[in-house]
Amino acid sequence: ATSIVWIRNDLRIHDNIALTEAVKDLEEGDDLLLLFHIHPDLIQNFDLQHDYFFQTVKAFHEANGPLHFIYGPEEEAFRSMFESVDDVKGIYFNEAETGFGKERDGRMKPVFEDEEVPVHTYIDHPLHGAGEVTKKDGGLYQVFSPYFKQWQKLDKPSVRKVDESKLKKHLVDRTDSFSEGKKKYEELTEQPLLDWKHVGEQAADERLTFFLDEPVYYYEEDRDFPSKDGTSLMSRYLRTGAISPRTIYHRVMQETDGRKRQDGVESFIRELAFRDFYHMVYYNHPDAGDKEITEKFRGIPWNEDEEIFERWKEAETGFPFIDAAIRQLNKTGWMHNRARMAVASFLTKDLLVDWRKGERYFHQKLADYEAASNIGGWQWASSTGTDAVPYFRVFNPVRQSERFDPHGEYIRTWIPELEDVPKKYIHQPHKMSEEEQKKAGCKIGEDYPEPMVDHKKMRERAIEVYKQRKD
Ligand code: FAD
Repeated sequence: ATSIVWIRNDLRIHDNIALTEAVKDLEEGDDLLLLFHIHPDLIQNFDLQHDYFFQTVKAFHEANGPLHFIYGPEEEAFRSMFESVDDVKGIYFNEAETGFGKERDGRMKPVFEDEEVPVHTYIDHPLHGAGEVTKKDGGLYQVFSPYFKQWQKLDKPSVRKVDESKLKKHLVDRTDSFSEGKKKYEELTEQPLLDWKHVGEQAADERLTFFLDEPVYYYEEDRDFPSKDGTSLMSRYLRTGAISPRTIYHRVMQETDGRKRQDGVESFIRELAFRDFYHMVYYNHPDAGDKEITEKFRGIPWNEDEEIFERWKEAETGFPFIDAAIRQLNKTGWMHNRARMAVASFLTKDLLVDWRKGERYFHQKLADYEAASNIGGWQWASSTGTDAVPYFRVFNPVRQSERFDPHGEYIRTWIPELEDVPKKYIHQPHKMSEEEQKKAGCKIGEDYPEPMVDHKKMRERAIEVYKQRKD
Protein backbone atom coordinates (compact mmCIF):
# COMPACT_ATOMS: atom_id res chain seq x y z
CA ALA A 1 0.00 0.00 0.00
CA THR A 2 1.07 3.60 -0.51
CA SER A 3 1.01 6.32 2.12
CA ILE A 4 0.97 9.82 0.72
CA VAL A 5 2.37 12.82 2.58
CA TRP A 6 1.05 16.05 1.12
CA ILE A 7 3.86 18.53 1.66
CA ARG A 8 2.91 22.23 1.69
CA ASN A 9 4.32 25.09 3.79
CA ASP A 10 6.14 22.52 5.93
CA LEU A 11 9.20 21.94 3.78
CA ARG A 12 11.34 20.00 6.22
CA ILE A 13 12.05 16.51 7.46
CA HIS A 14 12.65 17.28 11.12
CA ASP A 15 9.69 17.76 13.41
CA ASN A 16 7.20 17.71 10.56
CA ILE A 17 4.23 16.20 12.37
CA ALA A 18 2.39 14.75 9.37
CA LEU A 19 5.55 13.22 7.96
CA THR A 20 6.65 11.81 11.32
CA GLU A 21 3.26 10.20 11.89
CA ALA A 22 3.10 8.80 8.36
CA VAL A 23 6.50 7.18 8.79
CA LYS A 24 5.44 5.70 12.14
CA ASP A 25 2.41 4.07 10.52
CA LEU A 26 4.37 2.45 7.68
CA GLU A 27 4.44 -1.32 7.62
CA GLU A 28 6.72 -3.74 5.84
CA GLY A 29 6.19 -3.46 2.07
CA ASP A 30 4.46 -0.06 2.21
CA ASP A 31 5.56 2.80 0.00
CA LEU A 32 5.85 6.42 1.06
CA LEU A 33 5.13 9.02 -1.60
CA LEU A 34 5.88 12.71 -1.04
CA LEU A 35 3.43 14.92 -2.90
CA PHE A 36 3.37 18.63 -3.67
CA HIS A 37 0.35 20.27 -5.23
CA ILE A 38 0.96 23.42 -7.29
CA HIS A 39 -2.25 25.40 -7.19
CA PRO A 40 -2.70 27.79 -10.15
CA ASP A 41 -4.18 30.49 -7.88
CA LEU A 42 -1.10 30.51 -5.71
CA ILE A 43 1.36 31.23 -8.47
CA GLN A 44 -0.46 34.12 -10.09
CA ASN A 45 1.60 37.33 -10.45
CA PHE A 46 4.72 35.35 -9.64
CA ASP A 47 7.00 37.62 -7.65
CA LEU A 48 9.70 37.45 -4.96
CA GLN A 49 7.41 35.79 -2.42
CA HIS A 50 6.56 32.91 -4.74
CA ASP A 51 10.12 32.70 -5.96
CA TYR A 52 11.55 32.23 -2.48
CA PHE A 53 8.89 29.66 -1.66
CA PHE A 54 9.60 27.60 -4.77
CA GLN A 55 13.34 27.79 -4.24
CA THR A 56 12.65 26.25 -0.83
CA VAL A 57 10.57 23.56 -2.52
CA LYS A 58 13.57 22.92 -4.72
CA ALA A 59 15.93 22.73 -1.76
CA PHE A 60 13.62 20.21 -0.10
CA HIS A 61 13.32 18.16 -3.28
CA GLU A 62 17.07 18.07 -3.78
CA ALA A 63 17.92 17.30 -0.16
CA ASN A 64 15.31 14.67 0.53
CA GLY A 65 14.66 12.79 -2.65
CA PRO A 66 11.68 12.69 -4.94
CA LEU A 67 8.80 15.07 -4.51
CA HIS A 68 5.90 14.30 -6.82
CA PHE A 69 4.28 17.38 -8.29
CA ILE A 70 0.70 17.72 -9.40
CA TYR A 71 -0.66 20.87 -10.99
CA GLY A 72 -4.15 22.31 -11.51
CA PRO A 73 -7.34 23.07 -9.59
CA GLU A 74 -7.20 20.86 -6.52
CA GLU A 75 -10.07 18.50 -7.16
CA GLU A 76 -9.02 17.65 -10.70
CA ALA A 77 -5.36 17.37 -9.82
CA PHE A 78 -5.95 15.00 -6.92
CA ARG A 79 -8.51 12.85 -8.70
CA SER A 80 -6.18 12.25 -11.59
CA MET A 81 -3.33 11.51 -9.17
CA PHE A 82 -5.44 8.87 -7.42
CA GLU A 83 -5.97 7.22 -10.78
CA SER A 84 -2.25 6.65 -11.15
CA VAL A 85 -1.54 5.57 -7.56
CA ASP A 86 -3.47 2.52 -6.56
CA ASP A 87 -3.92 1.03 -3.13
CA VAL A 88 -3.60 4.29 -1.22
CA LYS A 89 -3.33 3.53 2.47
CA GLY A 90 -3.89 7.11 3.58
CA ILE A 91 -3.01 10.72 2.99
CA TYR A 92 -1.22 12.69 5.71
CA PHE A 93 -0.94 16.45 5.91
CA ASN A 94 -0.57 19.39 8.24
CA GLU A 95 -3.87 21.15 8.01
CA ALA A 96 -4.19 24.87 7.35
CA GLU A 97 -6.19 26.64 10.04
CA THR A 98 -6.65 29.91 8.15
CA GLY A 99 -6.95 31.62 4.78
CA PHE A 100 -6.74 30.07 1.34
CA GLY A 101 -5.24 26.86 2.74
CA LYS A 102 -8.16 26.32 5.08
CA GLU A 103 -10.68 26.77 2.28
CA ARG A 104 -8.77 24.44 -0.01
CA ASP A 105 -8.43 21.78 2.67
CA GLY A 106 -12.16 22.11 3.29
CA ARG A 107 -12.88 21.58 -0.41
CA MET A 108 -10.65 18.52 -0.47
CA LYS A 109 -12.27 16.63 2.40
CA PRO A 110 -15.29 15.39 0.38
CA VAL A 111 -12.96 14.43 -2.47
CA PHE A 112 -10.91 12.20 -0.16
CA GLU A 113 -14.09 10.75 1.24
CA ASP A 114 -15.41 10.07 -2.21
CA GLU A 115 -12.13 8.39 -3.19
CA GLU A 116 -12.27 6.44 0.08
CA VAL A 117 -8.85 7.63 1.12
CA PRO A 118 -8.30 7.80 4.91
CA VAL A 119 -7.13 11.27 5.92
CA HIS A 120 -4.73 12.05 8.77
CA THR A 121 -4.37 15.73 9.61
CA TYR A 122 -2.37 17.65 12.21
CA ILE A 123 -1.86 21.21 13.42
CA ASP A 124 1.80 21.93 12.81
CA HIS A 125 2.30 25.53 11.73
CA PRO A 126 1.78 27.52 14.96
CA LEU A 127 3.33 26.69 18.32
CA HIS A 128 -0.15 26.86 19.83
CA GLY A 129 -3.09 26.37 17.48
CA ALA A 130 -5.81 28.96 17.09
CA GLY A 131 -8.15 27.46 19.66
CA GLU A 132 -5.60 26.59 22.32
CA VAL A 133 -5.02 29.90 24.05
CA THR A 134 -8.32 31.13 25.43
CA LYS A 135 -9.63 32.96 28.47
CA LYS A 136 -10.86 30.93 31.46
CA ASP A 137 -14.43 31.19 30.19
CA GLY A 138 -13.32 30.06 26.74
CA GLY A 139 -13.53 33.62 25.38
CA LEU A 140 -11.07 35.06 22.89
CA TYR A 141 -8.24 37.42 23.66
CA GLN A 142 -8.34 40.73 21.78
CA VAL A 143 -5.20 42.14 23.40
CA PHE A 144 -1.75 40.62 23.17
CA SER A 145 -0.43 41.06 26.76
CA PRO A 146 -3.01 38.90 28.56
CA TYR A 147 -2.88 36.44 25.63
CA PHE A 148 0.86 36.18 26.11
CA LYS A 149 0.52 35.55 29.86
CA GLN A 150 -1.77 32.64 29.14
CA TRP A 151 0.42 31.44 26.24
CA GLN A 152 3.40 31.26 28.58
CA LYS A 153 1.53 29.08 31.07
CA LEU A 154 0.76 26.33 28.57
CA ASP A 155 3.08 23.37 28.11
CA LYS A 156 4.78 23.60 24.78
CA PRO A 157 4.41 20.69 22.38
CA SER A 158 7.64 18.79 22.07
CA VAL A 159 9.77 18.19 19.00
CA ARG A 160 9.01 14.93 17.22
CA LYS A 161 11.81 12.85 15.90
CA VAL A 162 11.26 11.17 12.59
CA ASP A 163 12.72 7.73 11.97
CA GLU A 164 14.97 8.77 9.10
CA SER A 165 16.22 5.35 8.08
CA LYS A 166 12.67 4.00 7.94
CA LEU A 167 11.65 7.05 5.91
CA LYS A 168 14.43 6.47 3.38
CA LYS A 169 13.70 2.78 3.16
CA HIS A 170 10.08 3.33 2.16
CA LEU A 171 10.44 6.45 -0.01
CA VAL A 172 9.44 5.80 -3.62
CA ASP A 173 10.24 7.53 -6.86
CA ARG A 174 7.33 7.45 -9.28
CA THR A 175 8.07 10.82 -10.79
CA ASP A 176 7.75 9.37 -14.29
CA SER A 177 3.99 9.25 -13.83
CA PHE A 178 3.92 12.87 -12.67
CA SER A 179 5.49 14.56 -15.66
CA GLU A 180 2.99 17.41 -16.08
CA GLY A 181 3.46 18.62 -12.50
CA LYS A 182 7.19 18.18 -12.81
CA LYS A 183 7.25 20.37 -15.89
CA LYS A 184 5.44 23.13 -14.03
CA TYR A 185 7.82 22.83 -11.09
CA GLU A 186 10.80 23.09 -13.40
CA GLU A 187 9.34 26.12 -15.11
CA LEU A 188 8.87 27.83 -11.75
CA THR A 189 12.27 27.05 -10.34
CA GLU A 190 14.60 27.18 -13.32
CA GLN A 191 15.41 30.88 -13.25
CA PRO A 192 15.18 32.32 -9.74
CA LEU A 193 14.37 36.03 -9.63
CA LEU A 194 17.00 36.57 -6.97
CA ASP A 195 20.18 34.85 -5.97
CA TRP A 196 18.66 33.71 -2.65
CA LYS A 197 21.38 32.87 -0.19
CA HIS A 198 19.32 31.52 2.68
CA VAL A 199 17.01 28.75 1.63
CA GLY A 200 15.79 25.53 3.23
CA GLU A 201 16.13 23.39 6.28
CA GLN A 202 19.90 23.40 6.61
CA ALA A 203 20.13 27.18 6.22
CA ALA A 204 17.46 27.59 8.91
CA ASP A 205 19.37 25.37 11.27
CA GLU A 206 22.64 27.23 10.69
CA ARG A 207 21.08 30.64 11.14
CA LEU A 208 19.40 29.62 14.38
CA THR A 209 22.71 28.26 15.70
CA PHE A 210 24.36 31.59 14.85
CA PHE A 211 21.55 33.60 16.47
CA LEU A 212 21.49 31.56 19.68
CA ASP A 213 25.21 31.69 20.07
CA GLU A 214 25.31 35.45 20.75
CA PRO A 215 22.83 37.85 19.06
CA VAL A 216 19.83 36.55 21.06
CA TYR A 217 21.29 38.10 24.25
CA TYR A 218 21.34 41.54 22.59
CA TYR A 219 18.04 41.09 20.77
CA GLU A 220 16.07 43.40 23.07
CA GLU A 221 18.18 46.45 22.06
CA ASP A 222 19.40 45.45 18.63
CA ARG A 223 16.05 44.39 17.18
CA ASP A 224 14.98 47.99 16.60
CA PHE A 225 17.93 49.03 14.45
CA PRO A 226 17.55 48.04 10.81
CA SER A 227 21.23 48.49 10.03
CA LYS A 228 22.14 45.77 12.55
CA ASP A 229 21.92 42.04 11.91
CA GLY A 230 20.18 41.80 15.26
CA THR A 231 17.12 39.66 14.60
CA SER A 232 16.81 35.93 14.04
CA LEU A 233 15.71 35.97 10.36
CA MET A 234 13.59 32.95 11.23
CA SER A 235 10.45 34.32 9.57
CA ARG A 236 11.28 33.09 6.04
CA TYR A 237 11.97 29.60 7.38
CA LEU A 238 8.82 29.57 9.48
CA ARG A 239 6.79 30.70 6.50
CA THR A 240 8.10 27.95 4.25
CA GLY A 241 8.23 25.47 7.09
CA ALA A 242 11.99 24.94 6.74
CA ILE A 243 12.01 24.98 10.54
CA SER A 244 9.24 24.31 13.04
CA PRO A 245 8.29 26.80 15.76
CA ARG A 246 8.72 23.96 18.27
CA THR A 247 12.32 23.45 17.24
CA ILE A 248 13.00 27.17 17.64
CA TYR A 249 11.29 27.32 21.03
CA HIS A 250 12.99 24.28 22.50
CA ARG A 251 16.40 25.17 21.14
CA VAL A 252 16.11 28.62 22.72
CA MET A 253 15.22 27.00 26.04
CA GLN A 254 18.00 24.44 25.88
CA GLU A 255 20.81 26.40 24.34
CA THR A 256 20.62 29.85 25.88
CA ASP A 257 22.85 30.34 28.85
CA GLY A 258 20.91 31.38 31.97
CA ARG A 259 23.99 33.18 33.26
CA LYS A 260 23.87 35.62 30.37
CA ARG A 261 21.33 38.37 29.99
CA GLN A 262 17.82 37.05 29.71
CA ASP A 263 15.92 40.13 28.51
CA GLY A 264 16.85 39.37 24.91
CA VAL A 265 15.80 35.74 25.25
CA GLU A 266 12.46 36.69 26.81
CA SER A 267 11.76 39.30 24.23
CA PHE A 268 12.49 36.82 21.43
CA ILE A 269 10.06 34.26 22.89
CA ARG A 270 7.46 37.01 23.10
CA GLU A 271 7.77 37.55 19.34
CA LEU A 272 7.18 33.86 18.69
CA ALA A 273 3.98 34.25 20.71
CA PHE A 274 3.06 37.23 18.54
CA ARG A 275 3.04 34.94 15.55
CA ASP A 276 0.54 32.67 17.33
CA PHE A 277 -1.51 35.67 18.45
CA TYR A 278 -2.00 36.93 14.88
CA HIS A 279 -2.70 33.39 13.77
CA MET A 280 -5.49 33.20 16.37
CA VAL A 281 -6.82 36.63 15.37
CA TYR A 282 -6.96 35.67 11.69
CA TYR A 283 -8.61 32.37 12.52
CA ASN A 284 -11.35 34.25 14.35
CA HIS A 285 -11.62 36.99 11.71
CA PRO A 286 -11.33 35.08 8.44
CA ASP A 287 -12.27 38.16 6.40
CA ALA A 288 -9.58 40.34 8.03
CA GLY A 289 -7.64 40.51 4.75
CA ASP A 290 -10.53 42.45 3.22
CA LYS A 291 -12.21 44.11 6.16
CA GLU A 292 -11.06 46.24 9.07
CA ILE A 293 -11.53 44.30 12.29
CA THR A 294 -12.57 47.49 14.07
CA GLU A 295 -15.98 48.17 12.57
CA LYS A 296 -15.99 51.91 13.11
CA PHE A 297 -12.95 52.24 10.86
CA ARG A 298 -14.58 50.57 7.87
CA GLY A 299 -15.21 52.93 5.00
CA ILE A 300 -12.35 55.41 5.52
CA PRO A 301 -12.18 57.63 2.40
CA TRP A 302 -8.79 56.40 1.20
CA ASN A 303 -6.83 58.33 -1.39
CA GLU A 304 -7.29 56.44 -4.67
CA ASP A 305 -4.59 58.33 -6.58
CA GLU A 306 -2.49 55.51 -8.07
CA GLU A 307 0.50 57.76 -8.59
CA ILE A 308 0.86 58.29 -4.86
CA PHE A 309 0.90 54.56 -4.25
CA GLU A 310 3.38 54.12 -7.11
CA ARG A 311 5.81 56.55 -5.52
CA TRP A 312 5.71 54.59 -2.27
CA LYS A 313 6.28 51.31 -4.16
CA GLU A 314 9.10 52.81 -6.21
CA ALA A 315 10.82 54.23 -3.09
CA GLU A 316 10.46 57.80 -4.29
CA THR A 317 8.79 59.39 -1.30
CA GLY A 318 11.69 61.71 -0.47
CA PHE A 319 11.81 60.34 3.10
CA PRO A 320 15.10 58.42 3.19
CA PHE A 321 14.16 55.95 5.92
CA ILE A 322 10.95 55.02 4.10
CA ASP A 323 12.66 54.76 0.72
CA ALA A 324 15.54 52.70 2.13
CA ALA A 325 13.02 50.25 3.60
CA ILE A 326 11.08 49.85 0.36
CA ARG A 327 14.28 49.33 -1.57
CA GLN A 328 15.37 46.68 0.90
CA LEU A 329 12.05 44.92 0.24
CA ASN A 330 12.16 45.28 -3.54
CA LYS A 331 15.77 44.10 -3.74
CA THR A 332 15.90 41.36 -1.13
CA GLY A 333 12.35 40.16 -0.43
CA TRP A 334 12.68 41.09 3.23
CA MET A 335 12.26 44.21 5.32
CA HIS A 336 13.23 44.89 8.90
CA ASN A 337 10.34 45.00 11.38
CA ARG A 338 10.99 48.57 12.49
CA ALA A 339 10.95 49.63 8.86
CA ARG A 340 7.74 47.65 8.17
CA MET A 341 6.00 49.59 10.91
CA ALA A 342 7.29 52.90 9.55
CA VAL A 343 6.40 52.31 5.89
CA ALA A 344 2.96 50.93 6.78
CA SER A 345 2.20 53.93 8.96
CA PHE A 346 3.50 56.26 6.25
CA LEU A 347 1.36 54.69 3.54
CA THR A 348 -1.85 54.62 5.56
CA LYS A 349 -1.53 57.82 7.60
CA ASP A 350 0.74 60.22 5.69
CA LEU A 351 -0.54 59.19 2.27
CA LEU A 352 -3.94 57.94 3.39
CA VAL A 353 -3.66 55.01 1.00
CA ASP A 354 -5.75 51.93 1.75
CA TRP A 355 -3.85 49.47 3.98
CA ARG A 356 -5.11 46.60 1.78
CA LYS A 357 -2.93 47.89 -1.08
CA GLY A 358 0.12 47.81 1.18
CA GLU A 359 -0.81 44.37 2.48
CA ARG A 360 -1.09 43.04 -1.06
CA TYR A 361 2.17 44.60 -2.11
CA PHE A 362 3.94 42.93 0.82
CA HIS A 363 2.20 39.70 -0.17
CA GLN A 364 3.89 39.86 -3.55
CA LYS A 365 7.33 40.72 -2.26
CA LEU A 366 7.95 39.27 1.20
CA ALA A 367 9.81 35.96 1.31
CA ASP A 368 8.39 35.56 4.82
CA TYR A 369 4.83 36.41 3.83
CA GLU A 370 2.29 34.93 6.23
CA ALA A 371 -1.25 36.13 5.73
CA ALA A 372 -2.01 36.23 9.47
CA SER A 373 1.09 38.23 10.45
CA ASN A 374 0.95 40.48 7.43
CA ILE A 375 -2.70 41.35 7.82
CA GLY A 376 -2.10 41.69 11.55
CA GLY A 377 0.83 44.04 10.94
CA TRP A 378 -1.08 46.17 8.44
CA GLN A 379 -4.19 46.40 10.55
CA TRP A 380 -1.99 47.28 13.52
CA ALA A 381 -0.21 50.09 11.69
CA SER A 382 -3.39 51.49 10.16
CA SER A 383 -5.10 51.40 13.59
CA THR A 384 -7.89 49.24 12.24
CA GLY A 385 -7.07 45.90 13.88
CA THR A 386 -7.40 44.42 17.31
CA ASP A 387 -4.82 45.77 19.81
CA ALA A 388 -3.63 48.20 17.11
CA VAL A 389 -1.69 51.41 17.44
CA PRO A 390 -4.15 54.19 18.48
CA TYR A 391 -5.28 56.18 15.42
CA PHE A 392 -3.88 59.45 16.79
CA ARG A 393 -0.39 58.00 17.18
CA VAL A 394 1.15 58.70 13.80
CA PHE A 395 4.78 57.70 13.27
CA ASN A 396 6.97 60.61 12.28
CA PRO A 397 9.14 59.25 9.45
CA VAL A 398 12.00 61.64 10.19
CA ARG A 399 11.96 60.99 13.92
CA GLN A 400 11.90 57.22 13.29
CA SER A 401 14.92 57.64 11.09
CA GLU A 402 16.81 59.72 13.65
CA ARG A 403 16.07 57.28 16.45
CA PHE A 404 16.55 53.97 14.72
CA ASP A 405 19.15 54.81 12.10
CA PRO A 406 21.03 57.58 13.90
CA HIS A 407 24.12 57.42 11.68
CA GLY A 408 22.17 56.84 8.49
CA GLU A 409 23.87 53.49 7.84
CA TYR A 410 20.64 51.79 6.78
CA ILE A 411 19.81 54.71 4.51
CA ARG A 412 23.24 54.74 2.89
CA THR A 413 23.16 50.97 2.33
CA TRP A 414 19.98 51.16 0.29
CA ILE A 415 20.21 54.65 -1.21
CA PRO A 416 23.73 55.08 -2.55
CA GLU A 417 22.68 58.46 -4.01
CA LEU A 418 22.79 59.72 -0.43
CA GLU A 419 26.11 58.16 0.41
CA ASP A 420 28.02 61.43 0.73
CA VAL A 421 25.28 63.41 2.39
CA PRO A 422 26.58 64.62 5.79
CA LYS A 423 25.08 62.98 8.88
CA LYS A 424 23.38 66.25 9.77
CA TYR A 425 21.16 66.01 6.68
CA ILE A 426 20.89 62.28 6.12
CA HIS A 427 17.34 62.13 7.50
CA GLN A 428 16.21 65.23 5.59
CA PRO A 429 18.51 65.71 2.62
CA HIS A 430 16.23 68.35 1.07
CA LYS A 431 17.40 70.72 3.80
CA MET A 432 20.86 70.92 2.25
CA SER A 433 21.76 74.23 0.63
CA GLU A 434 22.66 74.16 -3.06
CA GLU A 435 26.30 74.36 -2.09
CA GLU A 436 25.96 71.39 0.24
CA GLN A 437 24.08 69.40 -2.40
CA LYS A 438 26.92 70.01 -4.81
CA LYS A 439 29.47 68.85 -2.28
CA ALA A 440 27.45 65.74 -1.52
CA GLY A 441 27.02 65.02 -5.23
CA CYS A 442 23.27 64.78 -4.78
CA LYS A 443 20.91 67.28 -6.36
CA ILE A 444 17.55 67.23 -4.63
CA GLY A 445 14.74 66.95 -7.15
CA GLU A 446 17.06 65.20 -9.61
CA ASP A 447 19.19 62.59 -7.87
CA TYR A 448 16.86 62.19 -4.93
CA PRO A 449 13.29 63.52 -4.59
CA GLU A 450 11.90 66.25 -2.39
CA PRO A 451 9.63 64.90 0.38
CA MET A 452 6.31 64.12 -1.32
CA VAL A 453 4.23 65.37 1.59
CA ASP A 454 4.44 67.63 4.62
CA HIS A 455 4.29 65.16 7.51
CA LYS A 456 2.83 67.63 10.01
CA LYS A 457 -0.11 68.48 7.78
CA MET A 458 -0.71 64.89 6.74
CA ARG A 459 -0.68 63.77 10.35
CA GLU A 460 -3.40 66.26 11.20
CA ARG A 461 -5.41 65.23 8.14
CA ALA A 462 -5.21 61.54 9.06
CA ILE A 463 -6.26 62.16 12.65
CA GLU A 464 -9.19 64.21 11.41
CA VAL A 465 -10.30 61.50 8.96
CA TYR A 466 -10.11 58.77 11.61
CA LYS A 467 -11.79 60.97 14.19
CA GLN A 468 -14.73 61.52 11.88
CA ARG A 469 -15.23 57.77 11.58
CA LYS A 470 -14.94 57.46 15.31
CA ASP A 471 -17.69 59.96 16.09
P1 FAD B 1 12.57 38.32 14.80
O1 FAD B 1 12.57 39.68 15.36
O2 FAD B 1 13.81 37.52 14.98
O3 FAD B 1 11.33 37.55 15.46
C1 FAD B 1 11.29 36.13 15.60
C2 FAD B 1 10.04 35.59 14.98
O4 FAD B 1 8.90 36.05 15.69
C3 FAD B 1 9.81 36.02 13.55
O5 FAD B 1 10.51 35.18 12.67
C4 FAD B 1 8.31 35.90 13.40
O6 FAD B 1 7.93 34.59 13.14
C5 FAD B 1 7.82 36.27 14.79
N1 FAD B 1 7.45 37.69 14.81
C6 FAD B 1 8.22 38.74 15.12
N2 FAD B 1 7.51 39.89 15.10
C7 FAD B 1 6.26 39.55 14.76
C8 FAD B 1 5.05 40.27 14.55
N3 FAD B 1 4.98 41.59 14.73
N4 FAD B 1 3.96 39.59 14.16
C9 FAD B 1 3.99 38.25 14.00
N5 FAD B 1 5.10 37.51 14.18
C10 FAD B 1 6.21 38.15 14.56
N6 FAD B 1 5.98 38.66 9.77
C11 FAD B 1 5.90 37.57 9.02
O7 FAD B 1 6.42 36.51 9.39
N7 FAD B 1 5.27 37.60 7.82
C12 FAD B 1 4.68 38.74 7.33
O8 FAD B 1 4.10 38.72 6.25
C13 FAD B 1 4.77 39.92 8.11
N8 FAD B 1 4.24 41.09 7.67
C14 FAD B 1 4.33 42.21 8.45
C15 FAD B 1 3.76 43.40 8.01
C16 FAD B 1 3.82 44.56 8.78
C17 FAD B 1 3.16 45.82 8.29
C18 FAD B 1 4.47 44.52 10.03
C19 FAD B 1 4.56 45.75 10.88
C20 FAD B 1 5.05 43.34 10.48
C21 FAD B 1 4.99 42.17 9.72
N9 FAD B 1 5.57 40.95 10.15
C22 FAD B 1 5.45 39.83 9.37
C23 FAD B 1 6.18 40.84 11.48
C24 FAD B 1 7.71 41.08 11.53
O9 FAD B 1 8.04 42.25 10.85
C25 FAD B 1 8.52 39.92 10.97
O10 FAD B 1 8.08 38.71 11.52
C26 FAD B 1 10.01 40.07 11.29
O11 FAD B 1 10.50 41.28 10.79
C27 FAD B 1 10.76 38.91 10.71
O12 FAD B 1 12.13 39.01 10.91
P2 FAD B 1 12.87 38.04 11.91
O13 FAD B 1 12.55 36.64 11.62
O14 FAD B 1 14.31 38.41 11.93
O15 FAD B 1 12.14 38.43 13.27
